[in-house]
Amino acid sequence: MGVSKPVKLSSSVTAQEAWDRCMEVIQNNLGSNIAPVRTFLGAAQPVSLQEGVLTLRVPSQFFYEYIEQHFSTIIVKTLRRLLGPKARLEYQVMTAAEAAPMRLPSQELPPPTVFPGLRGVQPFPTNLNPKYTFDNFIEGECNRLARSAAMSVAQRPGQTAFNPLFIYGEVGQGKTHLANAIGNYARFLHPEKIILYLTAENFTHEYVDAVRNKKVSEFLQKLHSVDLIIVDDIQFLIGRESTQDMFFHIFNHLHQNSRQIVITADVSPQELRGMEERITSRFAWGLAAPLYPPDYETRLSILRFKLQQEGVEIPEEVLSYLAEHVHSHVRDLEGVVIQLLAETSIRRRELSLALAQELVSRFKPLRTRAVTVEQVVRAVSNYFKIHPEELRGKSRKKEVAYARHVAVYLARKYTRHALKALGEQFGGRDHSTVLHSCQWVQEGLSMNRELAQHVQDLERILFRAS
Ligand code: ADP
Ligand code: MG
Repeated sequence: MGVSKPVKLSSSVTAQEAWDRCMEVIQNNLGSNIAPVRTFLGAAQPVSLQEGVLTLRVPSQFFYEYIEQHFSTIIVKTLRRLLGPKARLEYQVMTAAEAAPMRLPSQELPPPTVFPGLRGVQPFPTNLNPKYTFDNFIEGECNRLARSAAMSVAQRPGQTAFNPLFIYGEVGQGKTHLANAIGNYARFLHPEKIILYLTAENFTHEYVDAVRNKKVSEFLQKLHSVDLIIVDDIQFLIGRESTQDMFFHIFNHLHQNSRQIVITADVSPQELRGMEERITSRFAWGLAAPLYPPDYETRLSILRFKLQQEGVEIPEEVLSYLAEHVHSHVRDLEGVVIQLLAETSIRRRELSLALAQELVSRFKPLRTRAVTVEQVVRAVSNYFKIHPEELRGKSRKKEVAYARHVAVYLARKYTRHALKALGEQFGGRDHSTVLHSCQWVQEGLSMNRELAQHVQDLERILFRAS
């Protein structure tokens, strides 16, 4: 909004109109995040507007503090745009008996910075995925501990014994879902808290960028300001010593200040081999809660829930057949639901036991990291038409080196070998060379379309053929 002159003479604007305008601006700033704060703002009543002073009546001291802390800047700015440079905000705080309202002045307008001027209104994106909530996370034996700890943490971030809360389980078991549910619920309950969700991969990239652009102190300032930090897939930090150091530092700072830390990983803290011991031992300070593969009852509930959401009615016998035969990963259950929908809605087939049997027989369960280096080498050498010996050797020819980078990256991503072991399998390289290949590919993925395509093709080949 580039309106710098008052749009109306102050005398012709009513208190209500001025307040409506402020609400509109706040709404535009917060977008869909306004829901949690609506209670606070909605409770404020614009009672008068005289000589550029808008007086808001609020139900209690708490409301006054809340609005003053989070919204006075934006409100005063809006008033000044509307009424001229002398516009101000005042509050009437109702006492218990609603007798004599106290008058309290609003703060002076601070210098016009956006960050962290609106502190408490989340100075940067939370990165949370709003589709993952507790409402659509089905509870079961396999996730009961993790779910209930997650719930406590969302309700009282930093105030429970679960700090850090470490959630672990295989891929597709709901870690990302639960981690986001914590963030989303905490955001709803505590709109004043600063929340940040990031994958360990994002963390690494942000940190590397900060170093490159000499912005480490800004990076630290941002991370130190967070009340609830969620770091997903921490195993990604394995083999990245300097990033681990930085993470360690931030972890300590936040923990000492009673900020909530939530971490997810594919294995328990003790099994995070390759991660510095001083870090993994800290992970055990709070609670390490597993997400197990879903048991039969939970699979039934998840299937029922997901089908219901899609508006599909399913005979009980078909449901139990599916729950019995599709196990191990929640993501597989989703895969089955999608196929069922395709068969019934697109191909108009009847949702029968026979159809379920057919789907199950065709269904390929999600592959976890069960790929071998052998398979990676075979796939990559076929794909690039390079002899496996050459791929594993020391040749520095450009196309060989390129294919080798990709192979090392895939092997690192999908096999469980340590860097050193991988180095030995690819021409006796040391672990930093392996790491270099991985980083080279990782960084190239977002910039180099061709490379991204090659990696994607190879992933498809690996998981289809192996
Ligand atoms: P992970 O991060 O462990 O790999 P995700 O959180 O991505 O797993 O979960 C995979 C999919 O399964 C997601 O779509 C998620 O919504 C769903 N899912 C996992 N657990 C549950 C659950 N208990 N209830 C409902 N959906 C679930
Ligand atoms: Mg995940």
